Amino acid sequence: MLPLIAGNWKMHLLREDAIRLVSALRAQATSLACELLVCPPATVLADVAAHLAGSPIMVGGQDCHQAPFGPHTGDISAPMLRDAGASWVILGHSERRSDHHESDALVCAKAKAALAAGLKPVVCVGETQAEREAGQAERIVSIQLAHSLPDGFSGAVAYEPVWAIGSGRTPTETEIAGMHSLIREALQARFGAAGATIRILYGGSVKPENAESLLAIPEVSGALVGGASLKAESFLAIARAVPSNH
Ligand code: PEP
Repeated sequence: MLPLIAGNWKMHLLREDAIRLVSALRAQATSLACELLVCPPATVLADVAAHLAGSPIMVGGQDCHQAPFGPHTGDISAPMLRDAGASWVILGHSERRSDHHESDALVCAKAKAALAAGLKPVVCVGETQAEREAGQAERIVSIQLAHSLPDGFSGAVAYEPVWAIGSGRTPTETEIAGMHSLIREALQARFGAAGATIRILYGGSVKPENAESLLAIPEVSGALVGGASLKAESFLAIARAVPSNH
């Protein structure tokens, strides 16, 4: 399975800039040793998907509701994302967990809804700075994993230490290797052979400058990229840093 480089645009880019970005990606994303995914805001998702039709670049949402339809003003469901051209959806990002008080149980229900709609979820887990300083990082991530993934899960897990997101700081390579191997063991213990096919992405201040060393860490099967995914040059530089022996 090829590594996955996923861009989380968050609440950025109006339509003109979004289309300019994906046009550049589409034109320049050649001979890559990875798959590319862009996750634009819902307002431009259908336009972005239409622009990328026929290209290998995939499109994802940044969240979905756990119900397929219903009286939920302002929410967007998994079938709606699918209908707009998405094949993936990010779930349980730390900004959703903190801004919208999303619990592991809710993330799990959303992941179930995404899978039922034919979307592949990227479920995010990761400790805060205080939790890491208290020596609780592994325990927190294990709990989040156990409760955020539904039975029969497939797709990707993103290890995103909350303190590394948008901060320019990253864990050491040894810390990332340790956490990814813990996640892999948990996935295999729970899902058996299927647990080996779930990608484990690293996310948190991935940039062109550190991508090569981060992507070479064992069990790092790609990256979830925030800030650096907003420019074609930096996003593609990260994609080109994927080791070709993966
Ligand atoms: C993210 O929001 O998922 C993220 C990893 O952001 P950044 O790359 O900007 O740290």
